[in-house]
Amino acid sequence: MSERGICSLCGHEKELSESHIIPKFVSSWIKCTSATGFMRLTPNINVRAQDGFKQYMLCQDCESLFSNWETSVANNILSITRGVKNESS
Ligand SMILES: [Zn+2]
Repeated sequence: MSERGICSLCGHEKELSESHIIPKFVSSWIKCTSATGFMRLTPNINVRAQDGFKQYMLCQDCESLFSNWETSVANNILSITRGVKNESS
């Protein structure tokens, strides 16, 4: 899904992607380490969440920059220390 708007990083008007506010690999880690295997978000803690917060913030080019860095962090830090499978890419 996309929405036209001003990219928060480059400032150009483009189609924006839904960006995870908290990286997806962190949401996956939360679900993996939760006692119930599910994640809950603060707007309504009684409802299970499939995914973390997302917002239309970045164009695809800028989203790609963060995606590459996120994959590197997930592969080199979190996966080693926690043994979590990288689901962010
Ligand atoms: Zn951009």
